[in-house]
Amino acid sequence: MTNTANFALAFDFGGTKLAASLINTATGTISNLIRLPAPAEQGADACFQAMVKTGSTILDSCAIPREEIKGIGISFGGIISDDGKSVVKSMHVKNWNNFPLPEKISSLFNLPTYMENDGNAAAIGEWIFGAGKGVSDMLYIQISTGVGSGLILSNRLFKGQGMAGEFGHMTVEPDGPLCACGKYGCVETLTSGWAFSKYGTEAYQNAEMDSPLYRLGNNNLGKIDAQLLFEACREGDIQAVKIVERGIDALGLGISYVVELIDPQLIVLGGGVTRSWDVMYPLIIKATQKYLSPLFQQRVKLVHSFFDGTETLLGAAMLTTMNLNNN
Ligand SMILES: [Zn+2]
Repeated sequence: MTNTANFALAFDFGGTKLAASLINTATGTISNLIRLPAPAEQGADACFQAMVKTGSTILDSCAIPREEIKGIGISFGGIISDDGKSVVKSMHVKNWNNFPLPEKISSLFNLPTYMENDGNAAAIGEWIFGAGKGVSDMLYIQISTGVGSGLILSNRLFKGQGMAGEFGHMTVEPDGPLCACGKYGCVETLTSGWAFSKYGTEAYQNAEMDSPLYRLGNNNLGKIDAQLLFEACREGDIQAVKIVERGIDALGLGISYVVELIDPQLIVLGGGVTRSWDVMYPLIIKATQKYLSPLFQQRVKLVHSFFDGTETLLGAAMLTTMNLNNN
């Protein structure tokens, strides 16, 4: 008997970016990776066609026999239906509403196709192949432009009625800033790429001329992103430290709620913003210790994501073996 490998075609549609690759679902090996900007301004059909074209390019150019490719997994950065069968809404692509994306992709490629939102897909990837390997209960938090998350409970993705794991929209400052979701003081309004960029830019515009934030901002043509803000923190910029400390304090409060509710073995933090883990980690520990009761303070384990973005593709690929959406 020959041992044929199983592969999946994986898509990571983030709204402004599109990635796709082939993945060996037994080993997590990624091949034929393509990354490109998504044509978000051109609308839903252009984005769909970009996915189809990228998928076809990969399948046409790969050396893997077609019969070893068992299915397609899609990670979608937006709101999807509870059963994973439709895109409900994209925040970046106009009019991408109520669209049966997996069915459309499936009929074109003639392969079973599954879809999850990006927070859940990334959590699965990190759980099966990354920092969460062997763990039965974990929360994965992805801090990028926004904040996504996924919850693994008792060795499976926990979805509740379909929307569980919206860590980014838990209220941590009731009188805090307005969020895109319509509420005030969500985690995302204080700890995210867009939040750090917004408050960082405001601080830069009012910064003292001899401050690190002013100098770093000038060197970057006034464009302040999370990484620049963290760099200003490393140089001891008082305003930058204030913004980051407030953000991480809010993040720690959110984490403490989850820890006391479900007592997970692990919290994994990933996403572009966490590249400044050296600055973030001590502050996250400080904040979680502040908000956790003594019984929980020693139990919580926080780690940095093993991957730097590919966890989402890996999780999407694993949907083909987990068959999550048929539950
Ligand atoms: Zn919100």
